[in-house]
Amino acid sequence: MHTLKILDTHYITHDVKRFVLEKPKEFTYRTGQAAHLSVNLPEWKDKAHPFTFTSLNEWSKLEFTIKIYDDRQGVTHQLGKLIEGDEILMHDVFDTFAYKGPGVFLAGGAGITPFMAIFRALHASDNMRGVALLYSNKTSKDIIYHDELTKILGPAYKNVFTREGVIGFRERRLDRDFLLETIGDFDQRFYICGPKDFVTNLKDALIDLGAKQASLILE
Ligand SMILES: Cc1cc2nc3c(=O)[nH]c(=O)nc-3n(C[C@H](O)[C@H](O)[C@H](O)COP(=O)(O)OP(=O)(O)OC[C@H]3O[C@@H](n4cnc5c(N)ncnc54)[C@H](O)[C@@H]3O)c2cc1C
Repeated sequence: MHTLKILDTHYITHDVKRFVLEKPKEFTYRTGQAAHLSVNLPEWKDKAHPFTFTSLNEWSKLEFTIKIYDDRQGVTHQLGKLIEGDEILMHDVFDTFAYKGPGVFLAGGAGITPFMAIFRALHASDNMRGVALLYSNKTSKDIIYHDELTKILGPAYKNVFTREGVIGFRERRLDRDFLLETIGDFDQRFYICGPKDFVTNLKDALIDLGAKQASLILE
């Protein structure tokens, strides 16, 4: 277990907070891995929850991007109260998503975090060819890392909003009809990450549209 000092933290949307933490010497991790984190306070240090690294191993600092649920009195509410200089405990590190090759990435809300690390790694090695992202959020205010995603993915990045009409964006659900209109070829890889229902519904829709079970990469 590592005790990590917060070097910087601020909200990057109304409910998502970015944490920059010191990286322990000799510590290494892989793109797509996650860690169990807890707040270093007596009543919270044993309550460790999973969060994905959005930084890359080559970076000198660790970064986590965390949606804060202030309506719950849980771990993220506590993380939301932390400031620079406070401490986070990093428990075990484990695999979540591994990049298996080009394909369509389907993300819902904070489900973008494992994909963010993958995109950053692919972009750094100039390997973004054949990668596309369909990113679903309630409103435009909920998008995380919009500018960076636009820069990295260009026209291969599409937003879907479920709750708000925004000029220039499509307002609708990321569902079977949307997939049918947007994706020409279902014989390719699909990565899905988001809330449980989001993952289940999209998985079923993709199979129905001809995608192969073995080509679906889910959390
Ligand atoms: C492998 C993995 C990696 C993850 N990586 C990230 C990451 O990088 N960034 C990130 O933001 N999250 C990530 N998560 C999700 C994150 O772990 C959870 O959001 C977090 O543990 C919530 O902890 P909590 O104690 O604050 O909230 P909890 O008390 O555990 O509740 C939060 C959950 O309850 C739901 N909820 C909210 N309000 C209500 C309500 N009124 N009634 C019922 N349910 C409600 C929310 O939808 C949410 O799913 C990851 C999860 C996994 C499994």
